[in-house]
Amino acid sequence: MARIPHVIAGEKVTDAERTQPVYNPATGEEQHELSIASVATVEQAIAAAKAALPAWRKTSLTKRADVFFNLRQLLKQRTPELAAIVTSEHGKVLSDAAGEIARGLENVEFASGLLHLLKGERDEQVSTGVDVHSIKQPVGVVAAITPFNFPVMVPLWMIASAIACGNTVVLKPSERDPSASVFIADLFREAGLPDGVLNVVHGDKTAVDTLLDSPDVKAVSFVGSTPIAKYIYERAAANGKRVQALGGAKNHAMVMPDAELNMTADNVVSAAYGSAGERCMAISVVVAVGGVGDELVAKIKERMEKLVIGDGTDPASEMGPLITAEAKARVESYVAGAEAEGATVVVDGREAKFEGNGFFTGVSLLDHVKTDSKVYLDEIFGPVLAVVRVDTYEEGLELINTHQFGNGTGIFTRDGATARAFEFDVEAGMVGINVPIPVPVGSFSFGGWKDSLFGDTHIYGPESINFYTRSKVVTTRWPNAEQSKVDLGFPSNS
Ligand code: NAD
Repeated sequence: MARIPHVIAGEKVTDAERTQPVYNPATGEEQHELSIASVATVEQAIAAAKAALPAWRKTSLTKRADVFFNLRQLLKQRTPELAAIVTSEHGKVLSDAAGEIARGLENVEFASGLLHLLKGERDEQVSTGVDVHSIKQPVGVVAAITPFNFPVMVPLWMIASAIACGNTVVLKPSERDPSASVFIADLFREAGLPDGVLNVVHGDKTAVDTLLDSPDVKAVSFVGSTPIAKYIYERAAANGKRVQALGGAKNHAMVMPDAELNMTADNVVSAAYGSAGERCMAISVVVAVGGVGDELVAKIKERMEKLVIGDGTDPASEMGPLITAEAKARVESYVAGAEAEGATVVVDGREAKFEGNGFFTGVSLLDHVKTDSKVYLDEIFGPVLAVVRVDTYEEGLELINTHQFGNGTGIFTRDGATARAFEFDVEAGMVGINVPIPVPVGSFSFGGWKDSLFGDTHIYGPESINFYTRSKVVTTRWPNAEQSKVDLGFPSNS
């Protein structure tokens, strides 16, 4: 069985002491062994990143941009290969895997505009004969810690901008589907990135804690579940690092009585069950307003019955398995407990039958969900959709605004005034108006509110340039030395 290596200073390195299986979720079989990094291995990766920093910082912006132009081509050409890797370890269907690569490419394209993005500002004659300009310099070694659910897109959210800004990176991908990160590191190398600028270490808490505690790591980007995001934020900040830590979600879609219900049901089913609900922007709650519930639930159910669930490599499959046997057990336990919590189980995904030992579960629909129940409050992260019924827009808004999470949300309506009010009032970082999964395009930044993000900077796009650079402000004058004199007064703006 192949052992998946770390990538340190361009070398493939394995740790012999600790390994962990990587499964094919569609078959339940162990397909690779993963090296789990020791403290020493992570320190080696940090040292490699630190050693590569001076030369990469000095590399001209045009040469840096070249790497991203090359990478874009390579990623496009190799998409089928990379999508196959994603499907084999994550389980999502091949078209969905190709979709995440396409969305990750947006970050590469954004980074290729680095000459424009890194421009500073200049003000002439702020005082007589005095000019001021600002420059953006890299922060140093960046740690990027990523979740299992987007093994290509989320690493690219971080590393594209971090590298474009002149930093060097240690990427710690999810241990459940780690091969995509090694593939990406190889593509970066082929695109011309010098060794040591992007290093990949696999591992668990030991690896993460080593990154969080290292004085040589200056910034931490994290995406994952809320308890870990909070932990990362607190520990990295206590160690004096800048940190952005994106957490979990429970995305509500409000459906107004004037919504076009066929289109809405199509959108809701796609966004709730795509990628088996393992998307941080999945719709997991529908808020049915003012009597729209019965018809909407019937339309959602009708569409669910037609979904094809199976091995992601089968072009007929629309939804694949969950990531692990534990994830399947966890998701199904929520469905099992839903009735006792007062919900009506309209479709019970546990009843779906699958051959073999894959981590498959069926799609579930829970209606009349109580807002104090666990199926409403917790992030389930599986193909389970909860429907909550309310009488008014205001009640629906109150639900969304008082929920623990505030990642994405959406409204389905034909009324512009209602949509505008929603946009103005709702407490979430990303809003869709008749758009079910409002992941911002790469020229904007991505981030939630409340317990969906710790830190104040959203990820990728323009905010990432601020996150991955430190600004320096330079004040200049070229006075006539003959007119120089001692002056103990504070410099004024005369
Ligand atoms: P996770 O929190 O279990 O793991 C994320 C990363 O943290 C992994 O690299 C993992 O190795 C590491 N980690 C896990 N436990 C740790 C610990 N105790 N100490 C230090 N590091 C630890 O998340 P996951 O299950 O891989 O991913 C799913 C979660 O990610 C969901 O909650 C989902 O909503 C969230 N997510 C959020 C976004 C977003 O943009 N807000 C995007 C994708 C996923």
